[in-house]
Amino acid sequence: MPLVMKTDVRVRIAPSPTGNLHVGTARTALYNYLYAKRHNGTFILRLEDTDEERSKETYTKDIIDGLKWLGLNWDEGLDIGGPYAPYRQTEKIDHYSTMANHLISSGKAYLCYATQEELAALKEEQKATNAAPRYDNRGRETSAEQRKQFEEEGRIPSVRFIVEEPQVVSWHDHIKGEIAIDTSDLGGDMVIVKSNGVAIYNFAVVIDDIDMKMTHVIRGEDHIHNTAKQLLIYEAMNQKAPEFAHAPLIFDIEHQKLSKRKHGETVHIDYYRAQGYMPEAIVNYLAQMSFTHPEGKEIYDLEEAAAVFDLDKVSKSPAVFDVARLNWFNSHYIRSLPLDLIVSRATPFLTAYDTSTYTAAQLAAIVASVRDGLTTLSELTAAVKFYFDPLTIPAEVAQDVLSSDNAKKVLNTMLNALGTMPWDDHQGCKKAVDAFGKEISLKGKELYWPVRAALSGKTQGPDLGSIISILGAERVKSRLEAALTHK
Ligand code: GLU
Repeated sequence: MPLVMKTDVRVRIAPSPTGNLHVGTARTALYNYLYAKRHNGTFILRLEDTDEERSKETYTKDIIDGLKWLGLNWDEGLDIGGPYAPYRQTEKIDHYSTMANHLISSGKAYLCYATQEELAALKEEQKATNAAPRYDNRGRETSAEQRKQFEEEGRIPSVRFIVEEPQVVSWHDHIKGEIAIDTSDLGGDMVIVKSNGVAIYNFAVVIDDIDMKMTHVIRGEDHIHNTAKQLLIYEAMNQKAPEFAHAPLIFDIEHQKLSKRKHGETVHIDYYRAQGYMPEAIVNYLAQMSFTHPEGKEIYDLEEAAAVFDLDKVSKSPAVFDVARLNWFNSHYIRSLPLDLIVSRATPFLTAYDTSTYTAAQLAAIVASVRDGLTTLSELTAAVKFYFDPLTIPAEVAQDVLSSDNAKKVLNTMLNALGTMPWDDHQGCKKAVDAFGKEISLKGKELYWPVRAALSGKTQGPDLGSIISILGAERVKSRLEAALTHK
């Protein structure tokens, strides 16, 4: 492969490990991944784990496993300090404090001694007058004397960044176009380092994006006000800000925002993984959700998406997560991915059965015989049950299909013809059935249904020749005999 020089395009996915990998985060990761690939840039995973109470190691693992499962591999951070060690913010607590102190020295930030009680009282006052909740910037006026007194009281200050008002923060957004935000809507001077010394997201994110030389920040539209705050910090630090792109929020088909509270586990990638969705289907579905392929294609893989993706082709309108449509993609991939891949992915859905009674080739044939009818691999368990478990034919099937004289004639004739059945050749098996049917002048439903019912308990299902060939001489014989006992 020719060596392609990396450009300076650097993008990142920066999930907070406060929950399992969310569909929206996966979509944002995908956009960043595709953008990096499209521009021969670098894609980075950074964990925004400054929320000490809500961050959990199990979420970190779920996010990392999910991104890898989707094929969204990152270029930096992975091998630093262990198997699950992308960049983490908690490793940089001291660095954030140092940077906050620089801002204090340059008069852009100050120590705020307001207690939780005082802030809560302020909120109550605002609520009573129907005013929007905001900090009233009282800390700006703290005199040296007051400060001394607060410290004697044992108050521990937070650091607040000065938000000058009114002022307009504007930028050209690669997806949304021109955006302008009035700083009066940002809630007053903002905490950047909490009194426990931990930096707040809006501050840590700026320091990290500077340190990691991010050129583009691609994230969800819910961050637009954060972007305005972050731009003020870049300016105060005399740093060039990255370019921004805000992807549309994801709604369900009833126009409700996709959220854990409303949609439960279905907002998480691992839910789809457990249900037997194909990662190829999910990335294809997420890619095309708000992006139109220039040639109008619907089915494409990561590589092909990376060749054509760009932010200006992402729609501004809300995205709609439609499971029926995802299912369409999933059925497509279950049908068309290499069989050995589907067979290996099918393993967790076959644990209910003793698969050792079949060879590997037969197991592959079992999966192949049903995969066209599956929406998810979790449906495989029920679809292949008849190959494994002792067969119980439902009473109504026995009554409707096996009780007639013709049905018995079919089963008896087939029993007699087993000696010449070409077991390894599924097409040959089907032909053999047609051949003995001809001898007894039966065809179509009258011929096939009794055989199907006897062998699978159903009148519909996989190709009949495949069923016969896979079950093999012994099982076919005993199932035909058992079916003949139905009155
Ligand atoms: N931790 C933030 C989130 O999960 C990251 C936002 C960003 O990309 O800056 O929403």
